[in-house]
Amino acid sequence: MSQVPYSFKDAPAMAVERLTDVIRVLQPKAHGCTEDVAVTGFSIDSRNVQPGEIYVAIQGQRVDGHQFCDEAMKRGAVACLVTHTEGIEQSKQCIVVEDSIRALGYLAACHRRAMKANVIGITGSVGKTTTKEILTAVLNTNWRTRKSQGNYNSTIGLPIELLKLRPDDAWMVAEMGMSTAGEIAQLVDIAKPQVALWTAVQPVHLANFENIDGIVNAKAELMEGLGEDGLLIFNADDPRVAKRCAAFAGRKFSYGILDARADVRARIEPFSDWDSTPFMVEFGKGKHQMLNLPMVGRFNVGNALAACAVGLALGVSGSDLVAALRYIKPSDQRCKLLAYTGDVLVVDDSYNANPYAVEQVLRSFAPLSPRYFRWLVLGDMLELGDEEEQIHLELGYRLAGYGFDRITLVGDLVERTYEGLKTRAADGVELEYFSSVNEAAAALNGPIPEGARIWCKASRGIRLERFVQALTAKL
Ligand code: ATP
Ligand code: MG
Repeated sequence: MSQVPYSFKDAPAMAVERLTDVIRVLQPKAHGCTEDVAVTGFSIDSRNVQPGEIYVAIQGQRVDGHQFCDEAMKRGAVACLVTHTEGIEQSKQCIVVEDSIRALGYLAACHRRAMKANVIGITGSVGKTTTKEILTAVLNTNWRTRKSQGNYNSTIGLPIELLKLRPDDAWMVAEMGMSTAGEIAQLVDIAKPQVALWTAVQPVHLANFENIDGIVNAKAELMEGLGEDGLLIFNADDPRVAKRCAAFAGRKFSYGILDARADVRARIEPFSDWDSTPFMVEFGKGKHQMLNLPMVGRFNVGNALAACAVGLALGVSGSDLVAALRYIKPSDQRCKLLAYTGDVLVVDDSYNANPYAVEQVLRSFAPLSPRYFRWLVLGDMLELGDEEEQIHLELGYRLAGYGFDRITLVGDLVERTYEGLKTRAADGVELEYFSSVNEAAAALNGPIPEGARIWCKASRGIRLERFVQALTAKL
């Protein structure tokens, strides 16, 4: 077994580019796996392994990744990082360690320290991925910038992304997620960020915490891990974040739509449709820049503003912000606007949902011109802990006040929402409830009203994207 303690904090600067580097860093019993070949990346899914990568076998709760080592090597993996070689035919190609996730983190920590790139860590209950995408575009106007892919924000995903750093990268934008206390601190020890961005604290993923203070503490691990010369950028509109960041002694910079004292402020300009959201950014003494975010959702201005604030703090110009925002596209299933002929707009937002994000969606209907047909398709919000039924019921009461023309509810928990809604909904509102996506899709019979503005939102487990597909197939 490896003798290396794998302390992320004390990891030495060692680039991980070849198999020999991996072995030197881990110093394990390498079972003859001493070939000097290039390593093109790391993967934890044998089905997606690319030639030249190292397959990291993880013992999961349901599946043991070790059973796919041979398949990974057939697909071209140069080696497998494992905790044992039992049942693996090509055990000679295995690097045996005590804990494959920790070893992966240690490799990333060493590699990251050997690269010149600065790392920006993004944490927060909502908006991390969206902000990461926009921030990468902002920084790319001036510097070679890499980002963590997709939602690779965990103690497994982020190391895989950090290991992709190359010597000529100047910045890395790293999403940092967590589901328990201490996880962000681990990510910080691995990634050693120079800049921290804290977007928001909301009662989401509450299942592993007693209360919201626990979430504040867990997210604060990012700023607490910044070095003395670190820079903290935070959302002044979020009272919990602002309060906690006030105690931060180092360099800091705030942004806000509501807080006029923030260092960077945004004013949302009037608009009547969903295809883009114009806003004015104000910074410094009397400096301002008009920007246009080609994304639906007023709350996305908050995400764009966060990205602009980081850019401005690092010296990006107002005109570069304009250029960066011009071609921003949301990721799949996240506020993705699907435009159709016949003046119907569908928003696929089936990636996740929580009460706060849903509230933001409801508000996004407000600026729409009254001539549009307002249609909300809402699925269950998952991972809300013991109060999930009550939260869904209360949402039903509130939904009644938003002036929708049609509301379609899909899932088990939203049956409570349906109950609440029925007691308060105004006459003439079309209400539908289905326990499954398939039922909801099958019930799409009549024509889609002209001028419909349809927002489809749910936690991912509901698979609301299937409803979106059925809906768009009809258009
Ligand atoms: P995850 O924890 O799943 O990684 P995330 O923090 O990366 O989430 P995003 O993927 O950027 O968040 O956004 C997910 C969804 O959250 C969006 O589709 C949107 O509905 C909602 N959302 C995004 N930004 C905000 C925001 N600033 N305020 C409220 N809701 C938001
Ligand atoms: Mg994310």
